[in-house]
Amino acid sequence: MIRTGKQYMEDLRDGRTIFINGEKITDHVDHPAFRNAIRSVANLYDYKIQHTDKMTFTTEAGEQMSLYWQLPSTPEQLIARGYAAYEWAKQTVGWLGRSPDYTSSALAGMLTHIELFESYSQERADALRNYFAYASKNDLYLAYALISPQGDRSKTPGGHDKNIYHALGVVEKNAEGIIVRGAKMLATGAVLADEVLVGTTKPLKKDLDERYALSFAMPLNTKGIKIISRRSYEFGANPTDYPLSSRFDENDSMLYFDDVLVPWERVFVFEDIEMCSKQTESTATEILMDIQSLARYAVKLHFLAGLAQVMAETNGVCEYPAVKESLAQLACYAMNIEGLFKSVLHCPKVHNGFCLPDKTMLYTYRVISQSMYPNVLETIRKLAGGGVLMLPSSAADLEDDEILSVIEKTQYSSIASPVERVRLMKLVWDAVGSECASRHHQYELFYAGAPYQTLGRLYGQYDWESSRELVERIKKL
Ligand SMILES: Cc1cc2nc3c(=O)[nH]c(=O)nc-3n(C[C@H](O)[C@H](O)[C@H](O)COP(=O)(O)OP(=O)(O)OC[C@H]3O[C@@H](n4cnc5c(N)ncnc54)[C@H](O)[C@@H]3O)c2cc1C
Repeated sequence: MIRTGKQYMEDLRDGRTIFINGEKITDHVDHPAFRNAIRSVANLYDYKIQHTDKMTFTTEAGEQMSLYWQLPSTPEQLIARGYAAYEWAKQTVGWLGRSPDYTSSALAGMLTHIELFESYSQERADALRNYFAYASKNDLYLAYALISPQGDRSKTPGGHDKNIYHALGVVEKNAEGIIVRGAKMLATGAVLADEVLVGTTKPLKKDLDERYALSFAMPLNTKGIKIISRRSYEFGANPTDYPLSSRFDENDSMLYFDDVLVPWERVFVFEDIEMCSKQTESTATEILMDIQSLARYAVKLHFLAGLAQVMAETNGVCEYPAVKESLAQLACYAMNIEGLFKSVLHCPKVHNGFCLPDKTMLYTYRVISQSMYPNVLETIRKLAGGGVLMLPSSAADLEDDEILSVIEKTQYSSIASPVERVRLMKLVWDAVGSECASRHHQYELFYAGAPYQTLGRLYGQYDWESSRELVERIKKL
């Protein structure tokens, strides 16, 4: 099924429980903290309907589905998946990290390695296969919740003996399913998605942490799931003042499971530490998710490079050689990621008959993207000077004749009107300096794991042997 934006919004009126600003909300679709982000996602669904040629595929059974549900078995299918993600990312200039193509890709990546689940448990493998069929048929939007709250990071969750359910774990199992209690630290898009896929990635200790070694999926309106939202950046944000925050605040929420029953047909891994690691590390979960991440990041960097150039032109500094160098550096960052994106699509590896990107390149992307983003922000800030602060306090000032007359005398640019200049500088600030921008900084640093983890993974994945052979070659000369 291909959903329209309207259908998506109707489906989202599901009575889920969200806590924000001291309020408990059960109808969030038109709430000022969430409504614009929801409509941005609805626009993505409508875009897909309007561009089915590049955003969908037809299954063997003749059903039309979104490309992110396809398990790529030819190079062409992999390329089509990548460019569909790129097209969607362009619609939000890369500002939605967890658009619907992200976690669906994680699920698809689990399916490409279904034999791992089969050798673990036929029942759990069947549950996964059936859930994938259900989620893809209904084109569900999934959030992904993997990480336990920080608590004391020197201990695993089971070591928090005074509060063993601060992290999500099993309370009991029965014939129907499992009862779970506790929190997952962050689920980006939990207010936008239909369901949440829950997994575990941080290391767990054998004979201590089994209760936390879980993987399952549940609708976000399930009784007992409490969505604790962080501050909303779109709440009260005027689109002129905050063009990005007001439209694309995808939200991050802590999820608290208050004794939630998860039926067995939704449980994919149960109390198995080794299988939890395998689900992330030995399937294509990360690999297919990272195609979306790479596409999104490339678009975001192109957007930021363009924004910096327009700002430099508006300020009349574009022809200074040093400014051109800064802009070229931004273009270089964007092209670096664009190159990685193309390389993972065009140099796939074959596994089980599926065409999948090279993991080393994806881990490389994760590391580079984390170190690159702070430099991108700093480069743009250096080009911006105080212009991003010499701005009227809000869009309301543009409506007041007395203030507007001062703005018109002072916001001079040789290529833009004063009001255009104000709008541009507000966009720049929302991209690099606002609270939403700061959250994006944190997102790019952490969404794929803390830097010590992404570096650790690259260390483990890199082909050191080939590298060392080069050393041996020189030594033998
Ligand atoms: C904006 C945003 C959105 C997110 N969205 C999601 C989401 O949708 N789903 C999801 O599952 N997760 C999400 N995350 C969480 C993300 O996965 C975690 O932030 C990430 O895995 C790092 O874990 P942590 O935040 O607990 O940091 P920690 O593990 O506590 O690490 C913080 C810092 O402590 C130090 N440190 C901790 N442990 C070690 C160690 N063993 N060795 C060396 N140094 C150490 C390092 O300096 C590290 O950078 C999101 C995070 C952000 C910031």
